[in-house]
Amino acid sequence: MFCEKQLGEGSVAKILQELPSDQAAQLREISVMEWCPVEPVLAFHYAMDRLYGSGDLSVCTRAGHFSAGWALNTILKIFVRLRSPLWLVEKATSVWSRYHDSGVWEFEQTANGRILGNLKNFQVRDPALCARLRGWLVGAIELTGGKAPQVSEPRCVCRGHDYCTFTATWHE
Ligand SMILES: [Zn+2]
Repeated sequence: MFCEKQLGEGSVAKILQELPSDQAAQLREISVMEWCPVEPVLAFHYAMDRLYGSGDLSVCTRAGHFSAGWALNTILKIFVRLRSPLWLVEKATSVWSRYHDSGVWEFEQTANGRILGNLKNFQVRDPALCARLRGWLVGAIELTGGKAPQVSEPRCVCRGHDYCTFTATWHE
């Protein structure tokens, strides 16, 4: 969805051509709500970055941002507007284990307009995935009406920390 809408028609097929054929086949078979092994998903993101990105994985952040809007907007649109960003990220990450084998999220609101989330015991160490998660958080906060969200990741397993910490700030 992100690819066809933002990167242009045919972009999914182009990216899939970059992948080893078994991984491409795995991705062609899955639908949105299904669990999928992480390797082909990551391979897809790296190929997307090579073909359409700028080599800094920011296209993965854009994809995450877009996917939050797409998934949550379609399913929960009106509901979501009445809630807080903290409520939404807790709700969304409570289904994390349906899609991932490992990893537990802990979120807290540290001030008005500021939340902090730790992703612990996640077995995947990959900057493309972290980039996507940062984008997803931006999208989730926008959906609940938070203005100008800023997301950063002061701790990250990809930089040698024990777990990833995401912080998000926004204007009410
Ligand atoms: Zn990380």
